[in-house]
Amino acid sequence: MIHERCFALDLIVEDGRCVGVHALDADGRRIEVRARHTLLATGGAGQLFAVTTNPPEATGDGVAMALRAGVAVADLEFFQFHPTALDHPSMPRPLLSEALRGHGALLRDARGERFVDELLPRDVVSRAITARMLEQGVDRVWLDATVLDHFDIRFPTIAADLDAAGLDPATEWLPVAPAAHHQCGGIITDLNGATSMPGLWAAGETSCSGVHGANRLASNSLLEGMVFGARVVEAIAAGVVAAEATGAMRTVAGRPTSGTVIGGQRLALPERARSTATTIDRQRVVELRHQLQRALTTHAGVLRTAASIRSATDALLAVDAEIPAGTVDPAVCELANLVEVGAALLAAADAREESRGAHARTDFPGAHEAFRLRLVIGGPPAHG
Ligand SMILES: Cc1cc2nc3c(=O)[nH]c(=O)nc-3n(C[C@H](O)[C@H](O)[C@H](O)COP(=O)(O)OP(=O)(O)OC[C@H]3O[C@@H](n4cnc5c(N)ncnc54)[C@H](O)[C@@H]3O)c2cc1C
Repeated sequence: MIHERCFALDLIVEDGRCVGVHALDADGRRIEVRARHTLLATGGAGQLFAVTTNPPEATGDGVAMALRAGVAVADLEFFQFHPTALDHPSMPRPLLSEALRGHGALLRDARGERFVDELLPRDVVSRAITARMLEQGVDRVWLDATVLDHFDIRFPTIAADLDAAGLDPATEWLPVAPAAHHQCGGIITDLNGATSMPGLWAAGETSCSGVHGANRLASNSLLEGMVFGARVVEAIAAGVVAAEATGAMRTVAGRPTSGTVIGGQRLALPERARSTATTIDRQRVVELRHQLQRALTTHAGVLRTAASIRSATDALLAVDAEIPAGTVDPAVCELANLVEVGAALLAAADAREESRGAHARTDFPGAHEAFRLRLVIGGPPAHG
């Protein structure tokens, strides 16, 4: 049976096995959907940040459900920022893709000067832009695409976005800023998409299959859905019942119900105090979501320090304290999920005292051998 327009709330776990989900149906009624196998494919969590290319529903619901159920999650500190999203009031932000820089468009700062090799990887260009914006006290830099001929014909989708924004790439520089784009980590899976919990599978951006490591290569994410989604179905059809020590699951190897952490370090999450209220005003939910997004963008975005991560954590805990326990309003649930995933991201960002891939700590600028491991949250008890 297909249940459409439902909102998944939480996993149903019985005897350590996932047997379905609690959900809200299209009329807002709470239902139980029971299944021998449950596949989470809920996408990313770009809505953690104030500036993102992700749609409003990218609130990390699958990762939050996994965290609440104690399923192993990793690599959340590696959130990829796209360097050149159009700086425009619309959210999600339209992307001015790498193709423009690849064909010769130049990045210029507030003084009109070039400051970075435009062809460097996303993380490097994002860091250079963010550092320059902080230095000059501005919210944007400029992409000079005036050198590109036949823009409309070569880049029709971008041309349409620019036209809608009232910008002409042939005659004016385009305002750009980094935007949260892709969650590299997520629910740890093996190469079949099996998670650390029997009966639970994950595919797509919500998963951490090991494809991206600390830094996703552009366009690698579609394979997470297309390849691993298909592999989950094939594995279930072939009668596979447990995760194997492949892909990111090598981190939590051994039997999924009593795995040993190999090359991984477990993290504890901060203590949280939920509100005792049972309702919350709709407008307040919107404000709290913005508050959380601003805090993560400012303090735990492209550039981070121990102090800034602490500020973001304080802001997140303040939001959490206003969320009523037990409500099943999807907007409140999404906010609670953002807090859940945000807390895990911040714990990992704090623990990773180095800079690697998409995670940049200005107080620990280099990569360290000791951190060549996954920071794992949840999962079966460690032993051995
Ligand atoms: C602007 C942009 C451009 C991109 N370009 C590329 C590219 O060129 N190449 C590339 O490889 N990748 C690209 N990506 C990344 C790629 O699109 C995503 O990683 C991919 O679409 C994620 O697919 P998914 O199936 O995991 O999740 P999604 O496509 O996000 O689907 C998740 C679904 O789950 C639903 N959902 C979420 N929570 C719940 C819940 N609680 N209950 C019920 N349903 C829920 C959502 O509504 C949504 O329908 C781009 C991303 C963006 C934002």
